Amino acid sequence: MRLNTSILKPSSKYGIEITTKIGCPVNCLKYCPQEVLLRKYGTDKRFLDLPDFYKILSKIPTYVEIVFSGFCEPFANSKCLDMINFAFKRGYTVSLFTTLYGATETDVNQLLNFRFKTFCLHLPDGKVMAVPSNPEYQSNVLAVLRNVKNVKTMSMTRQFKSNNRENVAREITVNQRKFEFCYLISNPAPVLLPNGDVYLCCNDFGLNHKVGNLLAPDCNYASVVERIKDSKGRFKLCTFCSSNTSVIDHYYHSARSMLNGLSKGSR
Ligand code: SF4
Ligand code: SF4
Repeated sequence: MRLNTSILKPSSKYGIEITTKIGCPVNCLKYCPQEVLLRKYGTDKRFLDLPDFYKILSKIPTYVEIVFSGFCEPFANSKCLDMINFAFKRGYTVSLFTTLYGATETDVNQLLNFRFKTFCLHLPDGKVMAVPSNPEYQSNVLAVLRNVKNVKTMSMTRQFKSNNRENVAREITVNQRKFEFCYLISNPAPVLLPNGDVYLCCNDFGLNHKVGNLLAPDCNYASVVERIKDSKGRFKLCTFCSSNTSVIDHYYHSARSMLNGLSKGSR
């Protein structure tokens, strides 16, 4: 899953997160309610296949950022590299959020040839995400850290912000408040599932707000975006979410993170 919605900067404008598989083998269950997702999704197609991925991309304009992330480690699907390759060839801006779990040495060597807008490496934290026992894993991680110039890293330590998604999906009481503003309502980045269904955003692990199906003949990316924008935030999930803030708070925090980034870059 994408781990911080603020990483999608205004310059991206629109995006879509690709869930390559239902049921993530990494199981960071403290913050990632995989059991709820599995139950709500049911027995429909678990893996996104290449023919469906091609059909789906044909309904998405090339100005939309394709983000391999969604509700699963992208490399849990062995066709992930083919999908990434295809998206680049079609001229999309592509980002990747990965633990590298399931990626082979060959996959990683090929990944190093692509220029991702964001390459976020989710590293083990010793508690929530376990260290994979696969011996290829360590050299793959080092290869990415050494060779991907714009790599960002994150782990699920105490600083990690989950937006309450695990509690909301598990129906554990969290404070509810009136919707004010969220960047992802005016600049949507919905989440695609392997059966073509599209959900509001990366917080919707409970599959509460379906906004289309990109394998259905009468649905395309524009209609999905229209549905989200027309809602003006009237999604129940938004009333529980910490990304629902005042416009002033949103731009204040965005400006602060931009300035922090600039000052780190100048050191
Ligand atoms: S790797 Fe990502 S999607 Fe998979 S369980 Fe961990 S946080 Fe969730
Ligand atoms: S406020 Fe709504 S759209 Fe925005 S991140 Fe939260 S759940 Fe998603």
